[in-house]
Amino acid sequence: MKQWWQKMKYSMAKWMYGRYGNDELTWVLLITGTVLLLLGYIPYVGWIFSILALTIVFFSTFRGFSRNIPKRRRELDRYLRIKNKPKSAIQLHKNKKRDKNTHVYFKCPKCRAVLRVPKGKGDIIVTCPRCNERVDKNT
Ligand SMILES: [Zn+2]
Repeated sequence: MKQWWQKMKYSMAKWMYGRYGNDELTWVLLITGTVLLLLGYIPYVGWIFSILALTIVFFSTFRGFSRNIPKRRRELDRYLRIKNKPKSAIQLHKNKKRDKNTHVYFKCPKCRAVLRVPKGKGDIIVTCPRCNERVDKNT
């Protein structure tokens, strides 16, 4: 029995080789799909939730077995950016408050990235780390 289980584990690992596997987005999609599946029991309109749930669960499973790893990583990156946006806005507000006497925050005019420079340095040229735009700033 144990040997059979070892064989199964080995063949499963071999089959999953080169495939994407599970990540945070997969679990979020599976949980969302399960919740929608339960909403499918609502009379008359439940079928809409059921179809949506099946679509989401199918997509989640497809992501796990996909071999197109760069595309799956981009999807995860997009999801994480949306998820972390409110968190990073709150963090930026806290940092601005903490550094109000020592640093100046401003946005890069080209790519809108938030830049932080020390206060009281006079006229300085700031190079944006994201787009390499050079900004003349008076601090
Ligand atoms: Zn920039």
